[in-house]
Amino acid sequence: MVQVYLLSEAQGLGKEVLGGKGFGLVGMAQAGFPVPPAFIVPTEACRFYLREGAVPGLWEAVEAKMAALEGLVGKRFGRGEGTTPPLLVSVRSGAPVSMPGMMDTILNLGLTLEGVGALARATGNPRFAWDTFRRLVQMYGEVVLGVEPQAFEALLEEAKEKRGVKADTALGAEDLEALSFRFLRLLEERGTPFPMDPWAQLRGAIEAVFRSWQNPRAKAYRRIYGIPEEMGTAVVVQAMVYGNLGEDSGTGVGFTRNPATGEKGLYGEYLRNAQGEDVVAGVRTPEPLEALKAYAPGVYQELLQVAERLERRFRDMQDFEFTVERGRLFLLQTRSGKRTARAAVRIAVEMAEEGLISKEEALLRVEANALPGLLRPAVDREKAPKPLLRGLPASPGAAVGHAAFTNEAVERLSAQGLPAILVRPETTPEDITGMYLSRGILTARGGLTSHAAVVARGLGVPAVVGAEALRVFPEEGRAVAEGVEIREGDLLTLDGGTGEVYLGVVPLLEGGDTGLLGKLLSWAEAHRRLGVRANADTPEDAQKARALGAEGIGLCRTEHMFFAPERLPHMQRLILAADEREEEEALAQLYAFQKEDFKGILRAMDGLPVTVRLLDPPLHEFLPPEEELKKQAEAGDGGAKALLQRAQALKEANPMLGFRGVRLLLLRPKIFHMQLKALLEAARELREEGLDPRPEVMVPLVADPKEVERARALAEELFQEYGPIPFGTMLETPRACLLAGEIAPLVDFFSFGTNDLTQMTFGLSRDDAGRFLPRYLEEGLFPFDPTERLDEKGVGRLLRLAVEEGRRANPRLKLGLCGEHGGEAASVRFVEPLLDYVSASPYRVLTARLAAAQAGLERRKTPLGVE
Ligand code: PEP
Ligand code: MG
Repeated sequence: MVQVYLLSEAQGLGKEVLGGKGFGLVGMAQAGFPVPPAFIVPTEACRFYLREGAVPGLWEAVEAKMAALEGLVGKRFGRGEGTTPPLLVSVRSGAPVSMPGMMDTILNLGLTLEGVGALARATGNPRFAWDTFRRLVQMYGEVVLGVEPQAFEALLEEAKEKRGVKADTALGAEDLEALSFRFLRLLEERGTPFPMDPWAQLRGAIEAVFRSWQNPRAKAYRRIYGIPEEMGTAVVVQAMVYGNLGEDSGTGVGFTRNPATGEKGLYGEYLRNAQGEDVVAGVRTPEPLEALKAYAPGVYQELLQVAERLERRFRDMQDFEFTVERGRLFLLQTRSGKRTARAAVRIAVEMAEEGLISKEEALLRVEANALPGLLRPAVDREKAPKPLLRGLPASPGAAVGHAAFTNEAVERLSAQGLPAILVRPETTPEDITGMYLSRGILTARGGLTSHAAVVARGLGVPAVVGAEALRVFPEEGRAVAEGVEIREGDLLTLDGGTGEVYLGVVPLLEGGDTGLLGKLLSWAEAHRRLGVRANADTPEDAQKARALGAEGIGLCRTEHMFFAPERLPHMQRLILAADEREEEEALAQLYAFQKEDFKGILRAMDGLPVTVRLLDPPLHEFLPPEEELKKQAEAGDGGAKALLQRAQALKEANPMLGFRGVRLLLLRPKIFHMQLKALLEAARELREEGLDPRPEVMVPLVADPKEVERARALAEELFQEYGPIPFGTMLETPRACLLAGEIAPLVDFFSFGTNDLTQMTFGLSRDDAGRFLPRYLEEGLFPFDPTERLDEKGVGRLLRLAVEEGRRANPRLKLGLCGEHGGEAASVRFVEPLLDYVSASPYRVLTARLAAAQAGLERRKTPLGVE
């Protein structure tokens, strides 16, 4: 039988049982914060309900706890007595992991027509009583009975029109009474009458919250954040307090530190004379908490103390909801607040310096994958024109994209590879797909704690919210701002760090560190064993990576150097060469370019290893597209004609699995020779300048030890002249992993090319997977995209095997990884105990450094082998 817990009975239970909301309430009640009494239906009940359709014994347990709740507040559930109003409750979802706004909540539950009279008498405020009732009927109708919100909105609009008023608050008691009856009739007509029985309401609401775990937006959210499907949600049933009892009441959201910047201090928003979700939903734009100083200084003081105490208790930045009922403060919820990457770093560092948490905890608190976002660009205000609009800076970073007014429009643009800016009146949880896919988000309404703001920060998407001069008409595919019309597809630039929005494309400035990140990463170094290098193939990228802490280059893709406009013709001449002389000439040109490139890179990485990978792609990639060549050839261009013939000869059905990598290098050994000689010569010249270059050479795509043997022999010819440098191979075919024990004695290092290894292990191509991978993820066939995050089960198994057999066969073997996964936190944590280093694109070096330290810290907590 499931247990249901009063707050006082749930001490010691964790979030996985009580959900985040229940857990926070229990902690607050225990610490003596003013929390309205409540009980919690645990997550287990939800799981049981979703599996079996009913939970034995649940209603008896709920009734017993409701009796206890009645005792605590001195009111009867749903029944007023004399001047005592009825006890009404809120029924809220609360998953173990925060999923803001994704599931359902119902307020004012337990009210019936009979109760309305009692509530009116008890409060002396019939308007309030009817407003409370019509809100309940509306919410219950939408959430439990499944009636579309527009049906209620239309009736509300009608009532306002009849009265000739604009705001809901201008409707009087009689209007709201009439509206309530109109709502009740609507539900009758739909064949889903409103239950005039408090207990039936309670059952309906709890079951609806259970079911809301499975609604499409909650599922989408879990998919995006990798939250397990099977957790389920807890349900919190809590005595209502009212923020809509008049001007001395209200409701708000507070943060103990600024969630955008991390700055310490009470921060938040307040709506006077309003209830519950009004703030979060962003329907009315609230005022900053400081406004309370003027008209409710006592409450403001109390909030300051609450913020201080909450942080000390929960040892993290808290995001709390509160209600003021006739001047009395109640806390309804607290949780660790979502924050931008910049704020996360500042909060972690400052809390450690304040002594609230340890440095180690600080390191574990920051999401490593979010760090590159810290360096996000901003609008270059010196070069920018006057902004078209200003809103609230909700999520930092600048974005340029095409206006899209619906999820579908964002999807359409993304499918064409175009960046989108989602423009909405306000966002609701339904918009999650569009928000996820867009480069930036702009809303006309809502504050810094609105849905749009919270979700955008979590996703790391730049956002400007509450741009009040904007009118959005999604159905018409247009918006109007300051007399300017914005149509779908129009280009916009927005800066979520300043709140400014511009028409067209505006120059951007690169992002940067505030100094705190450097401090956090310096703490990380003590716990990091895994080396971190960068994937870079220009001196500029190498410099940038070094500044970000890269300890060398793990992958320099030499083919990128041949694509530059002044070099491509030489590469094409090499491909077309009719005889040896022509070939030699082209090679000599390329040699000169390549040597200069290598010098630049080795110079930038002086004293650190630089792994140069010899040519990898198939040759046809250096020729213009066939269609273009055909057109030029038809127009009589002889050069194009020759290129076309060559392109046709080189054409492959599966170039990814074709004549490339080591295959090409062994069969066109002059290319191999030219590249390696350029590298060795570059190093020699630098040494003559007194520098300390550390080149390494690597061959891609091997599948057999024979290939490695042959490549090594080619390299040795040059090593005799220049002296040896470390020689290695990429492990990026499954066969190379399986034969790692035979390959290892032939090389100095392996570097796992997990991009190709993933493709070949799954039998999918990075270029074509877009056709089915999104659907696979949507349908839960894959838990995550294996091209982004390393698949531990399959690809990881090959990698482990190769590491073990490789090390056994060659104890001096160095092991690295240079696929995209080297800059993804979960993948770095997986390989941390296995490899010597990972290599990531320059900005993601930050992610790799922190993730490697986190893995080191966690390994110490759980000794190796005890997983
Ligand atoms: C790889 O395959 O993982 C790799 C690093 O090489 P590329 O992405 O250039 O194929
Ligand atoms: Mg590869």
